[in-house]
Amino acid sequence: MAEQASVALFRAEVEAARTHAVGSHAERWARAIAAWREDAQTNRAWLLFATSLLCRTGGTRWAVDPFLLPERIGQKPDYAAAAADLTPLDVVFLTHGHADHFSPQLLTALAHHNIAWVVPDHLHERLLSETSIPPNRIRVARAGEALEFLGIRATPFTGAHVSVPATGYLIEAAGKRLLFPGDTRSYDTSLQPCLDAVDVLFANLWLGRATALQEHPPLTDALVRFCLAHQPARIVLMHLHEVGRSPDDYWTPRHAQLVADAIAREAPRLPVTVPDTGDPIELG
Ligand SMILES: [Zn+2]
Repeated sequence: MAEQASVALFRAEVEAARTHAVGSHAERWARAIAAWREDAQTNRAWLLFATSLLCRTGGTRWAVDPFLLPERIGQKPDYAAAAADLTPLDVVFLTHGHADHFSPQLLTALAHHNIAWVVPDHLHERLLSETSIPPNRIRVARAGEALEFLGIRATPFTGAHVSVPATGYLIEAAGKRLLFPGDTRSYDTSLQPCLDAVDVLFANLWLGRATALQEHPPLTDALVRFCLAHQPARIVLMHLHEVGRSPDDYWTPRHAQLVADAIAREAPRLPVTVPDTGDPIELG
């Protein structure tokens, strides 16, 4: 009985989280865009969606998997307005082709912008066939081959998504090492090539398939070990509020708190932040 009661409680919590994410998205998107476009020298990032990030380092403006929340809930986003908001983009990094990361419609709306597109080799054909991005703006990301532009050095590596090809990035910018392993489904750290210390680890929260309504999802400690293996000075937990998912796969601040508490037991002084859409993430 107690277990059924907690499932009902957690299901209600997911629905409250979803309502919050959908209801606050437009205002939070606008807040992120306004702060990102400021002519400031601070190095910061802002979440646009579950793992969709806007970043500004050394005056260069870049994004990882730009995406619009309304697309995930069957609403037709205003792609042209979003593309206008994103006009200052210098570089876009793409990680993989899942429907909560890769939006051909948004990318096509951005196709005429002066953007350098960093596209994994496994996604290159889809980008060419499903968007109108000019081929001469595309840089193909291959594992281990560093790319450099506008003060950014990006080293792609094979992500541990397992079920689909995926690419992670070590991005060195403004004197910081920023690690984006991407969606990770195996926490076997021997699969991770970038195990030197990083300044900020952007970790995508995932605690096991269809386990989000459990009180203690099974992979919490595995994710913690994975995070600590990267010797990060800071951890940013992402991939909450993926509003296109069913409740048993929807990660909320409760799950992030479970992970943050487990990290605190292992590394009490290690800062862990769980940003909501639009909140500034300091990159130092
Ligand atoms: Zn994915």
